[in-house]
Amino acid sequence: MKRALYPGTFDPITNGHLDILKKAARIFDEVILAVASITGKDTTFTVEERLELCRQATQGMANIRILSFDGLVVDCARKTGALAMIRGLRAISDFEYELSLAMMNKKLYGDLDTIFLVPDNKYLYLSSTIIKQVVYLNGNIPDLIPQCVEQALKKKNLQHNNDLEKK
Ligand code: ADP
Repeated sequence: MKRALYPGTFDPITNGHLDILKKAARIFDEVILAVASITGKDTTFTVEERLELCRQATQGMANIRILSFDGLVVDCARKTGALAMIRGLRAISDFEYELSLAMMNKKLYGDLDTIFLVPDNKYLYLSSTIIKQVVYLNGNIPDLIPQCVEQALKKKNLQHNNDLEKK
């Protein structure tokens, strides 16, 4: 069984993430989408919410498993028996960071190699951050995020605005 780990924050999952996931699932017998619970950054969605959105967005995809992890990604890879870690590369700007991450992970766990996949053109400039900004400003972008994510973001904005009104 050739298993790969696709770790990330997924705050929230976008069609860019899904594109990478589908590409990886064509190469490996099983791909584990691993949602980081401790990310070092403030997330819009809790880990449970991010997990649930990942579950909904990948419904019907055969060789995908979804879990959350805390601590080192290499420990998660060891525990799950993954032979490779999948990361998405968009622009050169991703490269420096991703390369240092791959080198560090290799040092921590020599048996784990990182495989970089490039998304389809239409997702090259897509990030969770830009999606959140556009939805916050009421922009409509159905072909860039799953429907469940669009709904969840709109709900978050509503909650946020209600909280502001109460203050
Ligand atoms: P992290 O905080 O670990 O970067 P992300 O959820 O932002 O977590 O991203 C997880 C992985 O998916 C990273 O390798 C990132 O480069 C990749 N990724 C994010 N958006 C896209 C996209 N639009 N196309 C391809 N890869 C992407």
